Amino acid sequence: MYGSKAPQGTHYYCRGCGEKLPSDCHAQFHPECLKADKRRRTHEKRRLEQERLLACGSAMQQVPKRRRREASPLTPGSPSVRRAA
Ligand SMILES: [Zn+2]
Repeated sequence: MYGSKAPQGTHYYCRGCGEKLPSDCHAQFHPECLKADKRRRTHEKRRLEQERLLACGSAMQQVPKRRRREASPLTPGSPSVRRAA
């Protein structure tokens, strides 16, 4: 189809460093920028995973606490727990 082809002289810009890519290069990154980006993303992914794990751990710690707080007013007949406080 006409018009779908990019006009001559159109430059693509590297998404990694923002520099112009060679006109015959239809990639979105310089090879080395792609590599660096990949590495960075892997690094970020690992970091996010670790953060999620930490958040998950703190959330798991919060579950019994919240449940206890919710349960105490609903169950007035729990003298053993109340006496300990
Ligand atoms: Zn680049």
